[in-house]
This record gives sequence, structure tokens and C-alpha cells, in this order.
Amino acid sequence: MKINKDYLNLSENYLFSEIASRVKKYSAEHPDKEIIRLGIGDVTKPLATPIMDALEKAVFEMGKKETFRGYAPDRGYEFLRNAIADVDYRKRGCEISPDEIFVSDGAKSDCGNIQEIFDKDNVVAVTDPVYPVYADTNVMAGRKIVYMPCTKDNGFVPELPAEKVDILYLCFPNNPTGAVITKENLQKFVDYARKNDSVIIYDAAYEAYITEPGIPHSIYECEGAREVAIELHSFSKNAGFTGLRLGYAVVPKALVKEGVSLNALWARRHATKYNGAPYIVQRAGEAVYSMEGMKAVQKQVQEYMENATLIRNALTDMGYEVYGGVNAPYIWLKVPGEMGSWEFFDLLLNKANVVGTPGEGFGKCGEGYFRLTAFGDKNDTIRAMQRLKEL
Ligand code: PLP
Repeated sequence: MKINKDYLNLSENYLFSEIASRVKKYSAEHPDKEIIRLGIGDVTKPLATPIMDALEKAVFEMGKKETFRGYAPDRGYEFLRNAIADVDYRKRGCEISPDEIFVSDGAKSDCGNIQEIFDKDNVVAVTDPVYPVYADTNVMAGRKIVYMPCTKDNGFVPELPAEKVDILYLCFPNNPTGAVITKENLQKFVDYARKNDSVIIYDAAYEAYITEPGIPHSIYECEGAREVAIELHSFSKNAGFTGLRLGYAVVPKALVKEGVSLNALWARRHATKYNGAPYIVQRAGEAVYSMEGMKAVQKQVQEYMENATLIRNALTDMGYEVYGGVNAPYIWLKVPGEMGSWEFFDLLLNKANVVGTPGEGFGKCGEGYFRLTAFGDKNDTIRAMQRLKEL
């Protein structure tokens, strides 16, 4: 028996486990201290009423013989795929049909699993800093990874890779930097992929947080993207499904490599390894696209964005260099002086009892930066900023 040795190439600690262990240690040593968490990207608002109503109704359906549902179709129920195709795409002028949509239990699974349909010898490009799942799942699969630096100088939007790469992961609005990409710049990536026979995995998990006009909500707003891009969505951050679990992947039929349809390949993989998101959760997902659902979800997003503005303004007043927080729930701040980002993490934890995320945990270029999230409770966010002021 041999293990998969590629796993040994992973860095020892997953970022959030390391944070959790430092917080746990501090709390055990200082049980009297109240910690405010603006670190992990989990939401804090309960599910909105129209979503709860749909969920409740579906739960009762499951308890009656006439309306009971067993296994869901593995691509997702049509009622949900139709709503997604209509609201997220047709209304935005993008041409995506329901049979190009694959409902899943969330974007993390899709981000991690999608690489299975690609050969091991492909070269993968990810940004630095990066949402760790893209990089780690490709390390597990033994692929070569190249990094596209995202720095203050390029506005945290990567340059096109200097060498030819086969698969590119892009995430906008970005976790962790909060940066967005213009349509013009995104078009350059699409053109690069067309020219180099590459595939772009576009993670749009934070699309709902775009507030400024002119920022693309989907990569399919770019010309030719149907031939080169897979797009991933989550219901976690817009509608608070982090515990409920729901997402979807779009694999257009025009995406054909070596004469093989990637839509068909992903359909095969999905059907083999996945038995469908729960009926009740898909009904809750459908409610996100109803008039009342959309209104309620937009209100929650707006409230989180008020926290983002609050954090941005408070940090700017304190003299920090601040990025993000305008079209994204993440604020990316420059750590003062020559301090390292884990050093700043420890300082905030120990002196202000505030938890954030050290930029270095997202990659080398994240060193010297720190991520705060707008997903906290408003009062907690205000109190956290007060504590930082008093540092
Ligand atoms: N993609 C990005 C960029 C994320 O930041 C996250 C969660 O933090 C996810 C995907 C995971 O989303 P889900 O909860 O749908 O698995």
C-alpha cells in the first residue's frame, strides 16, 4: 500500500486551523477576555424570512407521502437551474442554459473537485495571495503551480502569466484582497485563454457584493468566455447558506478540449460522485431568486457592506493603508511598519482581542497584509474598531 505522497507537499497547517489553535490557546489562558472575530469568512445573519418559509414548506413536503422526494437529480432540480439561468445570466445578457448549470453543495467542493477532469500534467496558475483551496487541491493532485502576484502595484489584479499555463483560477470580487477586475482586464484573460488553449476557473462567490457599475458580475459578460471558462457560484455569502450548503458550477457546452465536451465530462464526474443537493435546500435556493427573496438578500448584503464601509473609514482615520471593502466584504490592510502579518495577528489577538486573518496565510505576496471581514455583527464591528483605535 502506498499513500498519495503529493499530500506531503501541502503546507503543514491549513490557515484557519492555525488561527483557531492560536485563539483557543489565548482563550484558555485568558478566560475573562471577550474575543471579537473578524477573521473567518462566515456570515452571522440568520436566513431571511422568504428563504425560511420556502425551507419550512419543503420540510413539510418531505413528511407527506404525496410530496416526499428522494434522491434529487444529480445536476439539480430544474426549478432551481431555470431560476439561476434566468436571473444570474439571461437578465444580465449572458447566454447560459439550465443544462449548463450543475447544482452542488457549495463552491468549495466545486473549486476543489473541478480539477479532476483535467490531466495531471497541466500547469496551473493561481493568484498570490489566493483562496487556499485552488492551490491545495492541485498540490494534492500533483500538478505544477505557478503564482500570479497580486500586489499594491498592480492593484491586486494579476498580470497575464508570462509562461503558457493550462488552467487559471481567478476570483473576483477577490478573497482575500477585496479587489475587483474591470471587464477590459477580464477580457484580456479570456483572450489569453483562447490563444493558449487554456481553461479559466472563475470563482464568482462574492458577485453579490459588487456595488459599482461597470464591474463584471460574470465572466460570460466577456466575448468568447463560453469557449474557455467555467464559473462557480455560492449561496453562502449572498444568502447565508454557509451551514445549509448550496452552490453551482457553469460548464458551457461550447467548452470543448481535445474534441471532448467539458460539460459532458463534468456531468459524468458529478453523476458518479455526487447524489444531488437536498430538495429542501434547493427549494430554499429557489426562494433566493423570488422577488421577496432577492429583496431580503440584497438588504443583508447591504448591511454587511455598511460594516465594510465602517471598517474602511475607521482604519483610514487611524492612518492605515486600506484596500477592498467597496465591492467585496473583505478589507485588506497594510500592516504598519515592518511588522509581519502573523505578528500583527498576535498583536490584535493579545492587545485588542480582535481576530483577523494574516495575509501571509494566503501566500507570499500576502505578507505584510491583513484581512478583516465585514460579516460580523454591526455592534461587534464598531467595538472592534474602537479597540484598534485604543491600541
Ligand atoms: N470561494 C471563495 C473565494 C470563498 O472565499 C469561499 C468561502 O469562503 C468559497 C468559495 C466557499 O463557498 P461555499 O460556502 O459555497 O463552499
